[in-house]
Amino acid sequence: MPGKSCVKCGKKAVVSLAYGPHSFCKQHFLGFFEKRVRRTIRENRLVEGREKVVVAYSGGKDSAVTLYLLNRIFGKSNPIEALLVDEGIPKYRDKALAIAERNCRKWNVTFKRVFFEKEFGFSMVDVMRKTGPKKLLGSTCAYCGVLRRQLFNSYAKKMKAGKLATGHNLDDEAQSALMNVFDADTARFFRLGPKSAASKGMVARIKPLYLCPEKEVIAFAKMQGIEFFEQQCCPFKWQAKRNDFRQMVSEFEAKFPGTMFSIVRFLKEAKELAGDKTKGKKLGVCQKCGEATSQKVCKACKMVERIVGKG
Ligand code: SF4
Ligand SMILES: [Zn+2]
Ligand SMILES: [Zn+2]
Repeated sequence: MPGKSCVKCGKKAVVSLAYGPHSFCKQHFLGFFEKRVRRTIRENRLVEGREKVVVAYSGGKDSAVTLYLLNRIFGKSNPIEALLVDEGIPKYRDKALAIAERNCRKWNVTFKRVFFEKEFGFSMVDVMRKTGPKKLLGSTCAYCGVLRRQLFNSYAKKMKAGKLATGHNLDDEAQSALMNVFDADTARFFRLGPKSAASKGMVARIKPLYLCPEKEVIAFAKMQGIEFFEQQCCPFKWQAKRNDFRQMVSEFEAKFPGTMFSIVRFLKEAKELAGDKTKGKKLGVCQKCGEATSQKVCKACKMVERIVGKG
């Protein structure tokens, strides 16, 4: 940060944010970051009363910072716990979750680790073998995402969570908003935002970092000395579409600082304008597993059937 000084104290800056524009020393950047998360939580009522918050903790930077801050802000007033889902991806999730477990112990956070293998009878290695390089049965990531979400929801319920917190950051939110625009998927577009409405069988999900750019999440984690798993992609990743949106959004952000905030602000205003129309249809329960779904059998159960059924 050559020559820049902190806008708060005048000391040498270590972080410079082009969209402000403003620069901060380490101490004031950490304060700025935490304040924004506190404001997001307060303004959107992400945590209410003394409810339990369960954090979907993958071992990566976003969920690590989410858990660290929720525990720091609410640790004395609310039960804060972590839920670790192990899809069985060797040299990736096992390493990430080893770090996650270490942090939970260090921060005195109760955690639960659940396994695809035990829950569904197969791991992501088996899914990969079946879906194969030709994208048979759909993409590997689609399976992983749906099955993981199902476990997060069902275990959050078992753990009696009032909210399930995820590590989604501003980059994720802006990319998702644009992807839904490009897909003309209004229902999904309106489901975005810092808090999903709780519905029958679904624990409300919250995103305390949804206004935090990814680069700042990394800077916060490093400056705060939070250990996290740095490898971004698992060996099975081939869902290229989000990568294209990631590249597009970051190119725009570099050229026009503040673009990501504008996209998310647009989403918020569009939701307010649309009002009740953004509320999705009522969910029923899956005949097989009892989880919430709009169909007779939920997507996760159909996927399990497809994997188990294909020799
Ligand atoms: S990249 Fe795809 S397969 Fe790998 S962990 Fe993520 S969703 Fe699962
Ligand atoms: Zn300062
Ligand atoms: Zn089901």
